[in-house]
Amino acid sequence: MKPLLGGCACGQVRYQCSENPLVQFICHCRDCQHSSGSAFMAFVFVPRDRLTYLSGDLHYYDVEANSGRALRRQFCRACGSPISAYWPGAPMVELLTVASLDDQSIFSPTHELWMSRAESWHPVHPGTTKLPEGPDEELVRGPVRAYFAARES
Ligand SMILES: [Zn+2]
Ligand SMILES: [Zn+2]
Repeated sequence: MKPLLGGCACGQVRYQCSENPLVQFICHCRDCQHSSGSAFMAFVFVPRDRLTYLSGDLHYYDVEANSGRALRRQFCRACGSPISAYWPGAPMVELLTVASLDDQSIFSPTHELWMSRAESWHPVHPGTTKLPEGPDEELVRGPVRAYFAARES
C-alpha cells in the first residue's frame, strides 16, 4: 500500500500512516459539529502504532464522549486545523480527519453516526448505514480486534 499522508492547513503538522484505514465513518454528533465548524466530521480509524507525526506542534483538548470515555481531539497549534483524535483510555487506534488527508478520494464511509443530531440543511451520503446515535461497541471494536488478531497470527 501507499502510505497515508496528511497534515494541517498551514503545513506545519504533517503525518504519515503505513496502514490502510480499519474503519471509516461520518459523525453528525454535536461535538463533531463544534470541532469541525460544520455539519459533521468524517474520519478514518488507523492503528496508532502505524501513525507517525513528522512535524508540527499538535495541541489538544479532551472531551467526554457519550460513552463516558475521554476523547482527545488534536489540532494544529498554529492554524487550528482538526487533525486527529484518540481515546487515552483505549489508545490502540487513532482517528484521522478526512479533511487532513492529502488524498481524500480514499474515503469510503460505511456508516453515519448520530443521525438524530444531523443538520436538516445538509444531505446525507446515500451509501451508508444510518445510526440514530453512536455506534454499538462492536461496530468499531470488531474490525479493530480482527486487525490486531491478524497481525499477531
Ligand atoms: Zn497548521
Ligand atoms: Zn461525533
